[in-house]
Amino acid sequence: MGEYEEHESSQDPLHILRHSTAHLLAAAVTELYPDAKYGIGPPVEDGFYYDFAFSKPLTEADLPGIESRMRRLAQEGRPFVQETLTRAEANAEFARRGQDYKLELIADKVEGDDVSVYHTGDFLDLCRGPHVPTTRDIKAFKLLRVAGAYWRGDEKKPQLTRIYGTSWPSQKELDDYLKFLEEAEKRDHKRLGKELKLFTVDERVGAGLPLWLPNGATIRRELERFIVDEELARGYLHVRTPDVARLDLYRTSGHAQLYKENMYPPMVFEDGEELELRPVNCPHHIVVYQSDLRSYRDLPMRIAEIGNNWRYERSGTLVGLNRVRAFALNDAHIFCTPEQLMGEVKGAIELSLYFSEVLGIDEFSYRLSTRDDMKEKWLGAEEQWKRAQDALAEALTSMGQTYQVGVGEAAFYGPKIDFQVKDAHRREFTNSTVQIDFQLPERFQLEYVAEDGSRRRPVMVHRGAAGSMERLFSYLIERYVGAFPTWLHPVQVVLAPLTDAQHGAAREIADRMRRAKIRVELDARNQKVDRKVRDAKLQKVPYIVVIGPRDVEAGVISVRNRADERTQETVEAFVERVTTEIADRRR
Ligand SMILES: [Zn+2]
Ligand SMILES: [Zn+2]
Repeated sequence: MGEYEEHESSQDPLHILRHSTAHLLAAAVTELYPDAKYGIGPPVEDGFYYDFAFSKPLTEADLPGIESRMRRLAQEGRPFVQETLTRAEANAEFARRGQDYKLELIADKVEGDDVSVYHTGDFLDLCRGPHVPTTRDIKAFKLLRVAGAYWRGDEKKPQLTRIYGTSWPSQKELDDYLKFLEEAEKRDHKRLGKELKLFTVDERVGAGLPLWLPNGATIRRELERFIVDEELARGYLHVRTPDVARLDLYRTSGHAQLYKENMYPPMVFEDGEELELRPVNCPHHIVVYQSDLRSYRDLPMRIAEIGNNWRYERSGTLVGLNRVRAFALNDAHIFCTPEQLMGEVKGAIELSLYFSEVLGIDEFSYRLSTRDDMKEKWLGAEEQWKRAQDALAEALTSMGQTYQVGVGEAAFYGPKIDFQVKDAHRREFTNSTVQIDFQLPERFQLEYVAEDGSRRRPVMVHRGAAGSMERLFSYLIERYVGAFPTWLHPVQVVLAPLTDAQHGAAREIADRMRRAKIRVELDARNQKVDRKVRDAKLQKVPYIVVIGPRDVEAGVISVRNRADERTQETVEAFVERVTTEIADRRR
C-alpha cells in the first residue's frame, strides 16, 4: 500500500507487480475470511507480504485455498481503480469494513484531507499506487509461508499473521525462482545445523543464544586455532578480557550514549555499582593498552581477542547463527602512529583476504561505510572523518579493490570498510570490518612517548578479520552444504568393520589415527556395512574406511572419499596423506 508506509513507492515494474499481487492476496483473504483485518502489504526482495489479523489461527495448509481464490480473481481481470476520498469519507469507509489498522494508518500517515484508496472489485485498500492495470496482469505467483509479525514492528502491539509470496512476469521465471529457493533451503544453515548436529537453539536458554554441540564446537575450535595462530604469526598480541565492565567505561567510550539501543540494561548492585555486558571489545583493549606506558617503539601494537559481545536484538529479527544476541568476534584493535595508519589498514585488509581464501569465502564485495547528515549520531570533526574516509578509500584503491559506498552505515566514531558476503538466500550481511578511529584515543586520552620524548596520541584501527564465529560458521555451513574441508570436519574418518571379527583390528587402526590427531569414529554398531557407509555419507564424512577380513590379512585398508573414489592403501600411507591435507588446510 504505496507511500502510506515505510517502504517507498517505486516505479520498478517488478515492485509494481509484486505490490499488486499483495492487493490480490488481501482481496482473496477478505473474501475467504470476512472478519480478517488487514495491515500492510509491501513488495520485498523477490516477492511481497501482507499482514493480517485472523480470528482463527492460519497455517500453511490454508495457503493453497487462498492461492486458488487469488487465481480466480486474477482471471476475472478486475481493474485497480483509484479514488480520492476525504479523510472523513475514508475513515467512515474503513470503519464500516471493520479495518482498524487502516484507520490507524490514516490517522498516523496521511497528511492533509485527501486520502487515496484503490478498489480491486469489492476489496478496498489505502494506497497511492501504482499498480498493474488489472488483476489479469498478475500471471505467475505463489504463496510461500506464514510467519508472525508485530503490527508496525512493535513488540508491544498485536502479533499479526504475515503471509509471504512471490510474483513474477512469467511462469518460467517463477519456476526458476522456486528452484532457487529449494536449493537455498537445502543449504540453509539452520536445517543443516540440526541434521549434522552442529548447534541448537532452545527456548529454555533463550532465542538468539545458540548452543554449539560437540560437532559444531570442534569446527569452532579449529577455526579459532587457525585464526589465532595466523594472527600471532602476523604480530598480533592475543589477550583475554572479561565479558562485563562498569557502565562508566561505556560512558567514556560513548557507547552508553550512542549505542544504547543495542545494549542490555545494566546490572545494578546494592552499593550502586553498575555492570554492563559488553557490546564491543574496544574499551577493554584500550585499558590493556593503557596498562603500561607505551613508546613509539611499541607501535604498532595489535591487541587481539576472540571476545564475546552481547547485543540486544529484537526477538523477531533473530535468525539461526546469523543474527544472535551473543557472539564471539575475531576482534583486534591496532594502536599506531598516523604514519603507520595506511600500512595497518592494508595489513588488516590483507589478513581478511587471506582468511577468505583459506576458508573459501569466494564471493564478497567491499562497502565503504560513511556517515549521513544526522549530526547527533556521530562523534568527531568533519576533518577527521574525511581523513579517515580518504585513507580507507586509498587503501582499497591501492590494492586494486573496488567498493560501493554505504551512506549512514559507519560506526559512530568513524568510517569503516565492510566485507559483504551473501548467504544461501542471497541476503547480504557484513562479515568483517576495518575501521579508523580518531575519537576513542581522544576520549580515553591515549598516549605514547614519541622519539623526541613528547607525549603523542595514537590512532586506533578496529578490525574484525574473520568476523564473528557465529556468522562465519553459518556462512561456512551454507558454503560447503555441510561437507566441510577435512581440516574442519568434525569427524574426518569413519571406520566401518565388515563384521565383529574385524573390531580388534579396527580399534588398533583407530588408535593409530588418533595418535596422528585425526578425528576418527569407529562405527561398532551391529549393522550391515552398507548402512554404516550410508550414515557416514549423510554426515558428509570426508573418508570412509571399510575393514574386511582380506584387508586385515593384506595389511591394507579400503578407503572411499566423498566423490566415491576408492583406494586401497596401508594405514601409514593413508595417515600421511590425510595429515598433510589437514596441515595444508586444503579445500
Ligand atoms: Zn497498492
Ligand atoms: Zn572496536
